[in-house]
Amino acid sequence: MGLFQKPQSDFPTKYSIQGKKIICPHCGNDTFFLRPEILLNTRGLAFFDLDWANKSASALICGSCSRIEWFFNLPSELR
Ligand SMILES: [Zn+2]
Repeated sequence: MGLFQKPQSDFPTKYSIQGKKIICPHCGNDTFFLRPEILLNTRGLAFFDLDWANKSASALICGSCSRIEWFFNLPSELR
C-alpha cells in the first residue's frame, strides 16, 4: 500500500481516536480521507526515521485544506 492509492471513500468522513473527534488543527475542518496502514519504511518516507515504530501508520488527509495527520492506531469512523 502506498500514499497514492485511491482513498477508501470518495467523500471525506469524520473520525475519532480514543473517543475524541479529530479536528484539523490548521483549518478546523472535521472530515478527512483515511489512508490506513501506510508503510513507513518505504522509499521516500525513510526521513521520518521511525525505526522504533511498527512500520505502519494511518494517515488522515483533511478534506478541506489537505493537511495530513498521522496516527499509529487506526482511527474509528464517526457515523
Ligand atoms: Zn484542514
